[in-house]
Amino acid sequence: MQRGKPFEQADIPIPELAPLDVLIRVAAAGICHSDVHYRAGISNIDRLPLTLGHEVAGRVEEVGSDVTHLSAGDRVCVHYLVSCGSCEFCVRGLEQFCRSGQMIGKHRDGGYAEFIKVPGANAFLLPDEIPFEVGAIMMCSSATALHALNKARFKAGDSIAIFGFGGLGFSALQLARALDCGDVYVVEINPAKLASAASMGAIAIDTRSADPVQQIKEATAGKGVDVALELIGSAKTMRQAVLCLGLLGRAALVGLTAESMSIHPYTELINKEVEIIGVSDHLATELLTLMDLARRGELQFPPESLRFVDLDASQINAALDSLQDSIDHVRAVIVPSK
Ligand SMILES: [Zn+2]
Ligand SMILES: [Zn+2]
Repeated sequence: MQRGKPFEQADIPIPELAPLDVLIRVAAAGICHSDVHYRAGISNIDRLPLTLGHEVAGRVEEVGSDVTHLSAGDRVCVHYLVSCGSCEFCVRGLEQFCRSGQMIGKHRDGGYAEFIKVPGANAFLLPDEIPFEVGAIMMCSSATALHALNKARFKAGDSIAIFGFGGLGFSALQLARALDCGDVYVVEINPAKLASAASMGAIAIDTRSADPVQQIKEATAGKGVDVALELIGSAKTMRQAVLCLGLLGRAALVGLTAESMSIHPYTELINKEVEIIGVSDHLATELLTLMDLARRGELQFPPESLRFVDLDASQINAALDSLQDSIDHVRAVIVPSK
């Protein structure tokens, strides 16, 4: 790819494997909203040309001489963060802050290709019950939704407000239910998304009708919720996420924005001992929980939530164009034809 230009198709050699690498024949690669930003040049990629694609699943084609936990033919999905394993963050299980961390499909070639080379440590066995396309898209938004719940110390019985019902919210709602949540409120402006959240058991909070904080306070008899997830990336909804919390509530902020948010420390934070928590990426260990939930059918992506495109530049560009102004949460997944 080149910054600000449509993707181009190119023949590139199949990568050579180092002893700890594996070569994967890509069976599915999710097209993500962040890929729209990479193509547009909004998020910077320093090494170009590059193959995008950080949501990847497929079959192991070949393993490096020192890889012992995988063999050719294994079904796998890919953890997109390549970390060193030995810096002060990696040794504490905080690989999202790795000193030399690299993201697949941003800093190194990704999965919009027939083959991808990744370190063996980044390839996780994908249970047979989980289709490749689901394995691929779980590696990004679902994983981040789970990380947000973990960062908010979400536990059984907690009530939760989810601000934004796109890909992250769709997973967050299912994950909260799998973790035995109390009442779930989904805050949205889009009627179709509100209807879809309600059909999945959430209480729909329509921001067009009244202030969402007011609505949540009324619905909880003035108490507020235990956890709020902000998945939109706007200062306004971030502030609402904090204000709808009850005593000891935790607001996990996931959406990105450059705006500032104002908080009255005494009445809105200190008095209630509420916490505002930043959420960045996810951890490899969380992928195992995700796969377990998906294997048991507690995290699902019904066929109508997926759309398939071929490994073809014009189809991928068209999918990115429609993602740019999408309002549904149908995910496009590249499935290379044989
Ligand atoms: Zn993604
Ligand atoms: Zn590291």
